[in-house]
Amino acid sequence: MSGDRAILHVDMDAFFASVEVREQPQLRGLPVLVGGAGRRGVVAAASYEARKFGCRSAQPMAVALRLCPQAVVVPPRHALYTEVSRAVFAVFERFSPLVEGLSIDEAFIDLAGTERLWGPPRGVAEALRVAVHQEVGLTCSVGLACVKFLAKIASGMNKPDGLTEIPAGTELEFLTPLPIGELWGVGPRTQEKLQRRGVHTVGDLRRLGEAALVEMFGAHGLHMHRLSLALDERAVVPDRAAKSLGHEDTYADNVVGVPALRRCLLSQATRVADRLVAQGLKARCVCLKIRDGDFVTETRQCTLPRATDDYRELHAAACRLLEAVETEGRGFRLTGVSVTHFEAPEREVQLDLLAPASEPPPKSAALQAVLSAVRERHGHQALFPAEAGSERRLGDTGAITHSRPNEPAKRRR
Ligand SMILES: [Mg+2]
Repeated sequence: MSGDRAILHVDMDAFFASVEVREQPQLRGLPVLVGGAGRRGVVAAASYEARKFGCRSAQPMAVALRLCPQAVVVPPRHALYTEVSRAVFAVFERFSPLVEGLSIDEAFIDLAGTERLWGPPRGVAEALRVAVHQEVGLTCSVGLACVKFLAKIASGMNKPDGLTEIPAGTELEFLTPLPIGELWGVGPRTQEKLQRRGVHTVGDLRRLGEAALVEMFGAHGLHMHRLSLALDERAVVPDRAAKSLGHEDTYADNVVGVPALRRCLLSQATRVADRLVAQGLKARCVCLKIRDGDFVTETRQCTLPRATDDYRELHAAACRLLEAVETEGRGFRLTGVSVTHFEAPEREVQLDLLAPASEPPPKSAALQAVLSAVRERHGHQALFPAEAGSERRLGDTGAITHSRPNEPAKRRR
């Protein structure tokens, strides 16, 4: 079978309707239809309460309202859904750099290489569901399997708010009784043709055999036969390669003096390093952004001899860049560290991360990964380099009023 691959398919539950319920809590528990209310209106999403009456998306609104006259019709707000989708995908991308969006509310996530950082895949799936719910206030359903199409089938099996795992070794058993229409690419015409040959389940399809399927459907027959054997080589293709990532803080009181500024930069370098580790990336180019009390903004950047995800290297580079800034007699209201020119970790490193703990990665990399994982789970201050001081200590250089990841590369959507 497909070795140790672990792929998640995440599907938000009744996405548009759930966003509306989140925004308008008085709708909770009611049948909600998102869509145009006019005579030609179509249902864009139906809440699970509305689905009980037979309402579903893509249905004419008039039909849905005949089935469920008491439903609350809410006009769609696509800009809002896009914004929420970005927040949801940002959570996904913390768990793995390999996120492939299928639509505004659905994605494949390949967990390859994340085991050392996050633990076994089932725990990752659970942590991801909790993170989405806590941070975005919405539920999702997750399928976990060794290949894409099985993960997608699995996510639909316990909706809403479900987690379905197809454990390695049980794939064929899982597939055998499924109706053939559940397989990707088996549309109504193919189904009809197969049913005439007495093929109703995936098990029937498997028994019909490769030769007969190829004779009937050509290459598509071969593909279906492979699916019936749980074989699906398709990789998760990330649709966003971040061009840069960074973190900047705006201070309530101007920060004065090099030692205080270096502490600020350490905090930001640490956050950037955490995000690099979480996304399995290393960067070669480090940028410093600094803005003084008169709103004069300067940026400086440098290229490192080799790509890194180590906060100490990022901090050292930012401090070297700071040396080129005139700090005498100036107070600064904002500092930021960002990185560009990413390199994916080398193949060996990836394999190493997947390997059992007998072959640990180099000490500093292992340490960085552990520190990042702890901060990710327990909050940024949980394990922070002592030199950076606490948020409270930052008070003597100006409390932070605004702290945000800065991400110039926006999701295409
Ligand atoms: Mg959905």
